[in-house]
Amino acid sequence: MAKDTPSMAKNKIKRSLGAILDPHPSAKEVTILWDYFENSCVYCGLKMERKSRIGHLDHVVAQAYGGNNSIFNHVLSCARCNGDEKREMDWLLFLNQKSDSSELLANRKLKIEHWLNKNINANVEAKELEEAEKIIAVALAQFDESVKAMRSLQVKIT
Ligand SMILES: [Zn+2]
Repeated sequence: MAKDTPSMAKNKIKRSLGAILDPHPSAKEVTILWDYFENSCVYCGLKMERKSRIGHLDHVVAQAYGGNNSIFNHVLSCARCNGDEKREMDWLLFLNQKSDSSELLANRKLKIEHWLNKNINANVEAKELEEAEKIIAVALAQFDESVKAMRSLQVKIT
């Protein structure tokens, strides 16, 4: 079992506090997503077996750009599209690259947009998310102080 350094613990604190307000998709929601996208990569159409682990949940709007953890901010993507090719590229730009015909592009785009439009919480929670960021900042500052205090104690005993 790996030991957590203070900076690893700090990241965990940040993520676990954030997830209270903005929870990650539940197993049931992930099943709904797989069904909606018919077990296929939204970008290249690859059919996937759920237990094969090549199916990834792709964050459509990254958290760095204000995206939330809602299931409706995720799409089903194969490991190759999500991990190797798309990276931080805009989803529509990437979909354009992956679709051989304009008809295919239009169909895939419509299906994705219909899904994303269910994400009605995105704006409602903006104020609360701002408040949450402040709470997390306070918790992390306190944690830093504790780490400093422990380190000065360590200096005394060695
Ligand atoms: Zn793919």
